[in-house]
Amino acid sequence: MGLGTGILTGHLVTLRRFLRTFLVGQGRTLKRRGGGHQPLDFFRKPAPGTEPVIDQGPTTEGLFTVEYPDERLPTRERFRVLPVLIYDDEDGYVRCTSCNICAKVCPPQCIWMTHAQGPDGNPVPMPEDFFIDMDVCMNCGFCAEYCPFDAIKMDQNFEQSNYERHQTHIYSLQDLLVSSTYYAQTHPEAWASADEVAERNKVKKKKDQRLQKALAGPASGRPAPAAVS
Ligand code: SF4
Ligand code: SF4
Repeated sequence: MGLGTGILTGHLVTLRRFLRTFLVGQGRTLKRRGGGHQPLDFFRKPAPGTEPVIDQGPTTEGLFTVEYPDERLPTRERFRVLPVLIYDDEDGYVRCTSCNICAKVCPPQCIWMTHAQGPDGNPVPMPEDFFIDMDVCMNCGFCAEYCPFDAIKMDQNFEQSNYERHQTHIYSLQDLLVSSTYYAQTHPEAWASADEVAERNKVKKKKDQRLQKALAGPASGRPAPAAVS
């Protein structure tokens, strides 16, 4: 092969792909994103929260570009990013008992917590605070799998960027709390599954017993835990 022929061939391949993609694709350029014609994208910005959700089906042809953040791919229920802590809407109490199991099973050891204590120094079955280092979390979901109180779940929110990469990347209890209604909306299939219904009922009983013990106050020597406001 002569000098420079390889480079020329490479350029021709690139040129052919460019032309097929952008010029002679039988209108495919305008039919990207699942088939929608969107030539005026530049002028038509959707309001935050109203971005169209698009999907690439098996019959989609041509260039398929998701113009994030103006467009989004659908979020699948089992897509998981970071853990969240659930509190129950019906009574406002966090489910977590600060048992520390999630912290023990977490492979990169990015969970830690402090146990709530009453004025007499006795422990209350709740976390005083709960931390997850989001930069270290590897999204494995072990914490949610092992939690015996159905208190920690994996969330789908991937938009976690901010302007500071140290302190604000350590999520505390207030950052991690989400309601049971939120979880039911984002994980409808799991929420309605027989396994989770049974688990919720089991956990509810345990929680009621725990709360009754704690609410017994001076007799048990333990103060009532605070509800999430
Ligand atoms: S989230 Fe679950 S496993 Fe972790 S401390 Fe709370 S109750 Fe225990
Ligand atoms: S998802 Fe995995 S890495 Fe992240 S906090 Fe849970 S156990 Fe740890």
